[in-house]
Amino acid sequence: MSESDKGARHRRRMQRKKSVVDSAIAEADRDQGLLLVLTGNGKGKSSSAFGMLARALGHGLRVGVAQFVKGRSDTGEEGFFRRQPGVTWQVLGEGFTWETQNLARDIETARRGWEQARALLRDPDLGLVVLDELTYPLKYGWLELQTVLDDLAARPPMQHVVITGRGAPEALCEAADTVTELADLKHAFRSGIRAQPGVDW
Ligand code: ATP
Ligand code: MG
Repeated sequence: MSESDKGARHRRRMQRKKSVVDSAIAEADRDQGLLLVLTGNGKGKSSSAFGMLARALGHGLRVGVAQFVKGRSDTGEEGFFRRQPGVTWQVLGEGFTWETQNLARDIETARRGWEQARALLRDPDLGLVVLDELTYPLKYGWLELQTVLDDLAARPPMQHVVITGRGAPEALCEAADTVTELADLKHAFRSGIRAQPGVDW
C-alpha cells in the first residue's frame, strides 16, 4: 500500500472514530451530583479522592471531608487542605478500638461519626464530599449500610460524593454512578521501602 493510501485509510478510520466519540458526547447531556466509589487493594484510592477535592476547589466549589479511619495525623493532604478556604475537614475514626475489640464502643463511635458525615450530606453549600475509608466501618458492621445508602440518596441533587476504601459492599457499588477498582500489581512497601512523605502520606 502506498503512503498516500495509508494516509487516506488512517483519515477514514479517525473520522469514523470521531463520529462515534462525538455522538457519545452528544448523548451525555445531563448534569447531576455523582456518587463515586474507589475500591480495591491497589494504592491510589484516597489520593485520587483528594485530587478531585483539589479540582472541585479549583472550580470554586466548597468541599467537605470525613475520614472514618485515621492512620496518622500528619498527612500532607490534611496539612494542605485544612489551610484552604472552603474546606470542612472532619476526623471521625479516632475512637475505633482495633486492639481492644470493644464492639459496643466502636458501634457508638461509628454512629456518632455518621451523624457528622450526614450533616455534610445535608449541606447544600457543599459541592463535593469525600467519605474517606468509609468501607471499613461498613465491613465491620459498625455502621448500617441501609442508613448510609438512604442518606446518600437524600443528598442535594448536585452534590458529588467520593467514597474510598477496600472491599466496597456490592449494594454501595450498585448505588454508585462511577466505580473504580484499583488493582495491586506491585507496591514498594513489599520491597522494604517505608512509606514516603508526599507519595504515601
Ligand atoms: P493512597 O492514600 O496512597 O491513595 P489508598 O487510599 O489506595 O492509598 P489505603 O489502603 O488507604 O490505600 O492505604 C494508605 C497507605 O497504605 C498509603 O501509604 C499507601 O501507599 C499504602 N498502601 C496502599 N495500598 C497498598 C498495598 N497494596 N500494599 C502496601 N501498602 C499500600
Ligand atoms: Mg485510603
